Amino acid sequence: MVLLRELCAYMDNLLEISLFDDYAPNGLQVEGRTSVKYIVGGVTASLSLLEAARQRGADAVLVHHGYFWQGESPRVVGAKRRRMHCLLESGMSLIAYHLPLDAHPIFGNNAQLATVLGFETEGRFGPGQKLGYYGRLPEPMSGDALSEVIANALGRVPLYIDGNRGRKDIRTIAWCSGAAQDYIEDAARLGVDAYLSGEVSERTTHVAREEGIAFFAAGHHATERYGVAAMLCHLGEKFGVNYEFIDIDNPV
Ligand SMILES: [Zn+2]
Repeated sequence: MVLLRELCAYMDNLLEISLFDDYAPNGLQVEGRTSVKYIVGGVTASLSLLEAARQRGADAVLVHHGYFWQGESPRVVGAKRRRMHCLLESGMSLIAYHLPLDAHPIFGNNAQLATVLGFETEGRFGPGQKLGYYGRLPEPMSGDALSEVIANALGRVPLYIDGNRGRKDIRTIAWCSGAAQDYIEDAARLGVDAYLSGEVSERTTHVAREEGIAFFAAGHHATERYGVAAMLCHLGEKFGVNYEFIDIDNPV
C-alpha cells in the first residue's frame, strides 16, 4: 500500500516532469482514493480501460495518454462525461505521463522500444528534451527483414516505405514512438539508414523518398505500450503494490 500523494510525488520526480513543456498536465489528473494497493496501466485512458480497471477493483489507473489536452474542448460532455463518471463513481485516480514517459532513459517508451526491438542506443535527437533516439541494429538487414522483426516483436505488421529503394541494408536507425513522423527530417540529418515512428502522414512518404531514408510506421499504440508497463513493474518492486497492464487493442 502507498499513499496516492506519495506515489505521484515519486513518479513526478523520477520522470522529471518540470523539465517538459507538454500538451497535457503530467501526474495526477483525477483524484481518487487516498491510498493505492492496486494499479491498472494502459496506453490510453479510454472507457474500456477504465471499466476493466473498475472490474478489477483498481485504486489508480496509470496511462500515457490522459485527458485535458491543449486545444480540446474543456466541456465534460459525451465520451468525456462517461469516462469522468466511471472514475469519480469508482474512486479510482487517473495518473498520466505524456512526454516525460516517452523520454525517460530507463522507463521511457523509446528506451523500452529499443529493448523490445533489439536496437542498440547511441544517442538522442530532436527538439527540446530530445525525445528521439538513434543507434544501430544488432546486424545489418534489408528493410523487408526489419519489417518482419518489428512485426514479430510488436505483433503488428508495420507500414514500410522503402525510401532508399533497397540500395543498401539497414545498419543505423532512429526512432521515436507515437505521432513523431515529422521527426523524419531530423533523423535524415543524422545520416541514419532508417527512421521508425508510430504514425505516418501522407507527406512522410515523399520526405522518405527525397531524403533517401527507409521509414517504418509501427503503430502509435504498438510503440507506446512499453513505458507504462515498465513503470508498473518498477512501482510493484518499489512500493509492493499489485499491478496489471491491460492492452486495449488499437490498430492505429
Ligand atoms: Zn502518444
